[in-house]
Amino acid sequence: MSETTAEKHVFQAEIQQLLELVVHSLYTDKDIFLRELISNASDSMEKVRHLEGTEKDIKDAGDDLQITLELDKEAKTITLTDRGVGMTHDELVENLGTIAHSGTKAFLEQMKESGSNASGLIGQFGVGFYSAFMVADKVEVFSRSWKAGAENLRWESDGKTGYEIETVDELPRGVKIVLHLNEGSADFAEEFRVKGLIERYSNFVGFPILLDGKRINEVEALWLKNKSEVSDEEYKAFYQFACKGFDEPAYRLHFAADAPITINALIFAPGENPEKMGFGKVDGGVALYCKKVLIDPEPKGLLPEWLRFVKGVVDSADLPLNISRETMQDSALVQKLNSVISKRIIKMFEKEAAADPEKYRAFYKKFERFFKEGIATDYANKDALAKLLRFETSMTEAGEVCSLTDYVGRMKDGQEKIYFLIGQNRDQIESGPYVEAFKARGLEVIYFMDAVDEYIVDSLGEFDGKKLSSVRHAGVDLEDVVADAEALSEEETEKLCEFLKMELGDAVTKVSSGKRLVDSPVIALVPEDGMSPQVRQMMKAMDENFKDEVKVELEINPRHALVRKLSEIRDSNPDVAKLVAAQLLDNALISAGLLDDARETIRRMNSLMEKAMG
Ligand code: ADP
Repeated sequence: MSETTAEKHVFQAEIQQLLELVVHSLYTDKDIFLRELISNASDSMEKVRHLEGTEKDIKDAGDDLQITLELDKEAKTITLTDRGVGMTHDELVENLGTIAHSGTKAFLEQMKESGSNASGLIGQFGVGFYSAFMVADKVEVFSRSWKAGAENLRWESDGKTGYEIETVDELPRGVKIVLHLNEGSADFAEEFRVKGLIERYSNFVGFPILLDGKRINEVEALWLKNKSEVSDEEYKAFYQFACKGFDEPAYRLHFAADAPITINALIFAPGENPEKMGFGKVDGGVALYCKKVLIDPEPKGLLPEWLRFVKGVVDSADLPLNISRETMQDSALVQKLNSVISKRIIKMFEKEAAADPEKYRAFYKKFERFFKEGIATDYANKDALAKLLRFETSMTEAGEVCSLTDYVGRMKDGQEKIYFLIGQNRDQIESGPYVEAFKARGLEVIYFMDAVDEYIVDSLGEFDGKKLSSVRHAGVDLEDVVADAEALSEEETEKLCEFLKMELGDAVTKVSSGKRLVDSPVIALVPEDGMSPQVRQMMKAMDENFKDEVKVELEINPRHALVRKLSEIRDSNPDVAKLVAAQLLDNALISAGLLDDARETIRRMNSLMEKAMG
């Protein structure tokens, strides 16, 4: 050490306040000190890389651009060395003795105003270097700047009132920080402890980190590379190793954006749905980084909840390194990230589905519930998500699927609505009376067959400006099909309707003749705001006393033989006519899934059979 006496400096008043806070309020989050120091070292070496091109004073920097950490259990020290740009005397004073950052000043002002609530606020602002004093009661910084003729300096402080700077013997370019660990922090001199911290927070730092001579961070930050520089194998290895994916990823999205926020993202959609495989909800698949340094492995609010199945990394250089978990979700930056990334992911699925429909269909089978959850819960993305839905329709073969976009493309001239029917399976839907009229007119009907589809249709309401309309609903107006010569006359039809209304009384709101039926004699139509059979089933399952007076509108088919026959015998055989009238309603209710108690129906059937046999 040289002979010069150390010059003493007093910390700026704000620094003293800041140190107070860092040491006392951030106590529980001590771990972060290493991330902060490594991040400073990495930034500084990044600067060397940039200067290398233009400054002749920096020579052959590439070879030793690394961070080394040495632990001394006995002496209770951690020594962290970088080969970055270093600091001159003035820079030491400026950077480590005054508050240059407007953010930190603003922070201290806010602290004064809010008084006690330190920990909530503190994380929003970088405390950087000063976090060293959370674990150390003395910090030495050895520094030599890259600039020609720079001094060899030693800065030292106990983090209380001030610091000293003196000149020392020849140093290499860069900074060496020696932390003398305080009483409660001796375990940070343990290798496993420090190794764990590096792996957790600094695994992707772009320079080698050596701990007692051993390289710790092996994984490259693939997300910052150019797509063309990364092979499929590298992507897969990253997915499996860094994202802990146990399967092959189905899709990936790798993109960089500058506006409205800087983002580098690498996101994978897994091949298998872990929730379906019985692993329950997997959370936090996408970690948040700022310039390769981990901010949060499971950031709340980074993505909408329904995207919890994707895995990967989002890196934004715009984020403050120290953004805290509590404030993260409310941060405008995180909300912007959420919006940009979720839109990109949906677009990616749309593109992939168009490029390889077969593959998408297999993927969709495993993951459709997430998309549907998104439609029901993510208002901002629901329309985009609707394009990802797949379903069978009256025009697809059994097992074949199409999209709402396909449907709209096939709509007939003048068709204004998108027709659908909810049911358990294709057979059940097609055997009922509802679809036939639409089929006969060449109108396509979507078959929704998943238990949650009811809610999806409700949440969606419309697609591409076209209302989703159930074919079970009264008020769907269909044009005439070809007139049938053998239909009842208008007068006969009207009389029969009157008769049926009288017979059925309050059980129906209305009896009318309709154009929609082709092969069935009657159909029960429910009001548009009425409860669906699926919801009724659920209510009944939950509450055994559940009673809901179903009021339907009965539409008869004047072309059907049974209806014509009924009109004929109405006066001549009133006993049978009455029984048939009641039975027709029950049949319609059964088709609609609305008949609760079949005992009366069975009794009536029996007497009808007796009568039929004379
Ligand atoms: P921040 O990193 O957010 O700027 P810090 O308190 O961590 O805040 O550091 C303050 C400044 O000190 C940095 O901006 C940088 O100029 C300088 N500095 C810190 N660590 C190093 C280092 N290892 N090498 C060179 N300069 C450094």
